[in-house]
Amino acid sequence: MLNTLSSFFYFYIPFNTQIAKLLALLFITILFSSVGSFLNVCIYRIPLKLSIVKPGSFCPKCKTPIKAWHNIPVLSYFFLGGKCRHCKATFSFRYCFVETITAILAVLYFIKNGYALDLNYLKFVFFMCFAVMIFFIDIDHRLILDKHNYTLIIAGLLFALIGATHLFQALIGAGIGFAIFYSIALIYWLIKKQVGLGGGDIKYITAVGMFTGIEGVIFTIFFSSIFGVLFNIINIGKEKEFAYAPYLVAASLLYFFMGDSIIKWYLDMTFHMLTL
Ligand SMILES: [Zn+2]
Repeated sequence: MLNTLSSFFYFYIPFNTQIAKLLALLFITILFSSVGSFLNVCIYRIPLKLSIVKPGSFCPKCKTPIKAWHNIPVLSYFFLGGKCRHCKATFSFRYCFVETITAILAVLYFIKNGYALDLNYLKFVFFMCFAVMIFFIDIDHRLILDKHNYTLIIAGLLFALIGATHLFQALIGAGIGFAIFYSIALIYWLIKKQVGLGGGDIKYITAVGMFTGIEGVIFTIFFSSIFGVLFNIINIGKEKEFAYAPYLVAASLLYFFMGDSIIKWYLDMTFHMLTL
C-alpha cells in the first residue's frame, strides 16, 4: 500500500525529483509535527487515565479550550509567545520540543531511508512515536506503561510477519533482550535485595529486539549504559535516583540511524587488529 503511495507521490509531481523530494519533506514535517502534538496529549493524559480524544486541547491553568488555529504545531507556540491567549499562563517549552523532535526524527529517517515511504519507514515511525511517549512519560512518572510495551512487542512481531524485519532475527532479538535484562535484574535483586532494572525496562528491551533483531539489542544495551554513565558523570552529586528508560529509548533510536555504520566500523576495526 505504501509503495503505491510513494509512486502516487512521484507520479503526480513529474517536473523534477528535487522538487518532489522537497515537497515530500515538507509534507512529512507538517504531518509529524501534528503527530508530535498528539503525542503531547498522550504523554500528559495516558498516565492520568484520561481520554486522549475528548475533550480537545485546553489550557492546563484556566481550562479554556484552545482553538484549532491557536493549536498549530510549533508555529502557534512562537506566535503566541508560549502563553495562553486567555489567562497568559506560560506553556511549557516541552510541548514545542516534543513536536519539533518528532518531526525532525521522521524527516531524518525519511532521508536515511532514501526518500522512500516504504514498510521500513512505517516500522520506524511507529516505533519512534512510542519511543517518544515512553521517553517523556518515564521522565515524568518513572514508569514505562505495560500497554505501550505490549503494543510495541505485538506490533514488532506483526511487522516481522509481513516482512519488515527478518522473523528469525526479531524472535531471537526479543528473546536475547529479555534474557539479558531478566538475568541482570535477577542477579541485582539477589545481591542487593532491591529492584535494579524494572519490569518496564525488561519489556522495552524485548520490544526493541522484536523491531531490530540481535544487533539492535546488543547495540541498545551497550549505548544506553554509555549514555547513563556519561549523564551521571555530568550530573554528579545532583540526583541519586537513576532512571534508565530514557537512555534505553535514546540508544534504541540511535540504532535506527547509525546502528549499521557504527557496527560496521567496529567490526572493521576488530578485523584489522586481528589481522595485524
Ligand atoms: Zn489559560
